Amino acid sequence: GLKTGIVGLPNVGKSTMFNALCENAKAQAANFPFCTIEPNVGIVAVPDSRLALLSNISGSLKTVPTSVEFVDIAGLVKGASKGEGLGNQFLANIRECDSIVQVVRCFEDGDVIHVAGKVDPVDDIDVINFELALADITQIEKRLDRLKKTKSAGKVGEEAKRNEVEAGALQRIMAALESNKPARSVALNEEEEELVRGLYLLTAKPMVYAANVAEDDLAAPDANKHVVALRQKAEEEGSGVVVVSAQVEAELNGLDAEEAAEYLGALGVEEGGLKSLIRSTYQQLGLLTYFTTGEKETRAWTIREGFTAPQAAGVIHTDFEKGFIRAETVGYADFVAAGGYSAAKEKGQLRLEGKEYVVKEGDVMLFRFNV
Ligand code: GDP
Repeated sequence: GLKTGIVGLPNVGKSTMFNALCENAKAQAANFPFCTIEPNVGIVAVPDSRLALLSNISGSLKTVPTSVEFVDIAGLVKGASKGEGLGNQFLANIRECDSIVQVVRCFEDGDVIHVAGKVDPVDDIDVINFELALADITQIEKRLDRLKKTKSAGKVGEEAKRNEVEAGALQRIMAALESNKPARSVALNEEEEELVRGLYLLTAKPMVYAANVAEDDLAAPDANKHVVALRQKAEEEGSGVVVVSAQVEAELNGLDAEEAAEYLGALGVEEGGLKSLIRSTYQQLGLLTYFTTGEKETRAWTIREGFTAPQAAGVIHTDFEKGFIRAETVGYADFVAAGGYSAAKEKGQLRLEGKEYVVKEGDVMLFRFNV
């Protein structure tokens, strides 16, 4: 599955947010094993209002959302890249993730100690991002060294050419890191990207900042100067910001629907920010959703941008990909407007797509395959 690591300084609200994500998932999905699978790993449903509508049209017995996995990575502190704290272990955990949510403390609370003694999200981000960058620099130096050695060993031909391209890309990334920019800010072509991928650079991963605000700030977060400073910083480096209140989310999980609505109403908001956090993580990862729907179940599936129909089928089962014949496909809006498969077919909106078809966001698909 796709993993998102939750990082941030100690005491910014990571665990509170992680627990809220998991509790919320448990409460929502009685017929699906969304839960904490390890103390610090949880599977969370991606909220999607289209699912209920599809399920209704098809009269499905079951509705299954798609999911992302969250990992609470505690303990990233100043000096982590030098092995301080349990530094290296934490960095290794982040390396395995596909994207990063960095929780940033934007709430003031005298009872909750801040490791640096004051609330300053831009400073906090710099500390974390510096550690991630140092880890990448170490990684790149090692790799460049090795590439240099193979070069002086007199390698020629295709491999030498590839090494040349890789070294060039790594030098550009190095220059970015040294001027305080993440690896993801460096434009790479397809070949370079593929050559560099094996290093699993931490600052190349998509990142979303989660501004953890006090409940009173949820309705008008930009009245909080910390949020404003964070937004500006994020914009400079091309990352997203989501405003969330971990504490509000934690409290919501103990309430029934009516109480929750009342509480949110009193705060002047419709939700505590968890849903937009999940959705925005999904988008930052370049993920798309397609649907399968029928009497048995309606289900959302996650694919990457650019997946062909057989690759998309392979997400359901590898046999679907191997034996792929064609996909009967209709866009979500057409499916809903027509009121189902057969109606869409009568209107000539059901397309027979073959092996080359690139799946689009919201496609409703029925796969035909050989077993
Ligand atoms: P972590 O070290 O980043 O995982 O932080 P925790 O989730 O353990 O939170 C540290 C402390 O901050 C706990 O006492 C939380 O109850 C508190 N906390 C977390 N989020 C908020 C918030 O939005 N507002 C306030 N006032 N306290 C919070």
